[in-house]
Amino acid sequence: MSDNTAIFIRVDIDETVQTDKELCKLLIESCPVDIFQSSDSGGIETVESNLDECTLCDICVEAAPGKVDVVKLYRA
Ligand code: SF4
Repeated sequence: MSDNTAIFIRVDIDETVQTDKELCKLLIESCPVDIFQSSDSGGIETVESNLDECTLCDICVEAAPGKVDVVKLYRA
């Protein structure tokens, strides 16, 4: 069994972000572990397989104050 040191997170993205192209681009470019990517609808979505790479750096939260939230989901 692998160790349980990983922190699992969920990233909540406010729907107003989806129509803000500049902010979407900024989020995609600024996350150091590529958790954001373009979505088919022209906005952004999270890359599920990269979520456990999140460093909790808060760059995304600071880039989109009140619009992006990194929610920590610790393994029980
Ligand atoms: S906290 Fe940092 S690593 Fe995690 S999703 Fe935001 S920008 Fe990416």
